[in-house]
Amino acid sequence: MNTKKAFYTNSPRTHKKSGGIPKGHIVLNNFLSAPAVVRDELFGYIALANSETGYTERELNVIKRIADLYGISMERKQMEEALRKSEASLSNAQRISHVGNWDWDIVNNELYWSDEVYHIFGLEPQESRITYEAYIRAIHPDDRMLVLEHVNKAIYENKPYSIDHRILLPDGSERIVHEQAEVTFNETGQAIRMAGTVQDITVRKKAENAMFNAKLVAEAANKSKAEFIANMTHELTTPLNAVIGFSEMLMLGTFGTLNDKQTRYVNNINSSGKHLLDVIDDILDLSKVEAGKMELHPEEFEVSSAIEEVNILVASMAEKKRIEITTDLADNNIVVEADKTKFKQILYNLLSNAIKFTDQGGFVTIGGKISEDFVHIYVKDSGIGISPEDQGKLFNPFFQVDSSSTREYGGTGLALALIKKFVEMHGGKIWVESEVGKGSTFGFSIPTSLKSTSH
Ligand code: ADP
Repeated sequence: MNTKKAFYTNSPRTHKKSGGIPKGHIVLNNFLSAPAVVRDELFGYIALANSETGYTERELNVIKRIADLYGISMERKQMEEALRKSEASLSNAQRISHVGNWDWDIVNNELYWSDEVYHIFGLEPQESRITYEAYIRAIHPDDRMLVLEHVNKAIYENKPYSIDHRILLPDGSERIVHEQAEVTFNETGQAIRMAGTVQDITVRKKAENAMFNAKLVAEAANKSKAEFIANMTHELTTPLNAVIGFSEMLMLGTFGTLNDKQTRYVNNINSSGKHLLDVIDDILDLSKVEAGKMELHPEEFEVSSAIEEVNILVASMAEKKRIEITTDLADNNIVVEADKTKFKQILYNLLSNAIKFTDQGGFVTIGGKISEDFVHIYVKDSGIGISPEDQGKLFNPFFQVDSSSTREYGGTGLALALIKKFVEMHGGKIWVESEVGKGSTFGFSIPTSLKSTSH
């Protein structure tokens, strides 16, 4: 009696050690081993042990055939595993990115959706086989024409499309999707397939809409703020001018002589009134710039003439503190095209600050040069200086290094914020370099011609 035992081995890599893939079966002392090799790859062995009679040619062929079939089935298993893995990774990628893909066999009207497309449309993938008609029904009625028009253009005019539209889910909720698609044609020019992607962009679109609405609200709020300030300014300046005017008349003794205390108080009323008027003027200017209502009136002028005119304005202030102002222009004929009034206001604020924050007997220099279509101006002083921390805040409205400085030096904390806006309106930049106790240098650059800016 033949006692044959068949066994399998699942160690396909053993051939590596023995040097190469076995080409055929081996019979050794009634022991038969047949390698399962498919396309030069070893998937395992089928082995038989026959203790008595050995093997006939027919038996050998049968075993060899079985080993071949075993190899083929192992290869298929591996391929199926690889396919399953790549499908799982694709489906994962689609789930994470909320992008699904679809394929429409136009000839047989068969539509394939990836799992993610089913999810986007609020359906269970296994529950239903989607049809083209069901897909069209799921599109928001108001967007259906838009989608159909693009589908037709893709099929009849070979125009791939990329559109956003809304879809309706079975539970009645709405989503926004981004779809891209293109058509494949056969040799006769007939559209045979259409393939595309669907991306759920609901969250992104809602955020965009919310941002857009917030921007509209902010713009409206800013506009009403600007209008409010303009109205308030008018309401405040009228009585304030009366306060200043009448206190001046009292100071002049028009209605009789005042005693010392009365003079002091009337002086206070007058200077506080003037300070308040400065604040209101600056706030109005700032809000005008912010509301885009401040316009530039460009003209050509010599920088040296603007500096001279401003020097005259600050001369008495400088004289009182015995501060010498020197001018250091690289070229006396520098000509710019800018808003001269605003240019002078920038210079005036920088110069008056330099004088204000410099001790008696100090010095102030105003200089300028042209390079690369920009005019660069600086105002340097030997004053109290500004700490690095405060330098970053100087150009914020109402900022003053020392809040008690209003009492000591006067001012509103608005001038630098305002002139920064003026410089920016010209397409320029303003900056500061300073060291506490040594002095400060404020500089700004604006284009020599306004044609190179958007204004
Ligand atoms: P203010 O009307 O108070 O001068 P600014 O906006 O012009 O308002 O200046 C804001 C603050 O910046 C000032 O209060 C002062 O603390 C500081 N500052 C401006 N220029 C100088 C300077 N040249 N030296 C030192 N500190 C300065």
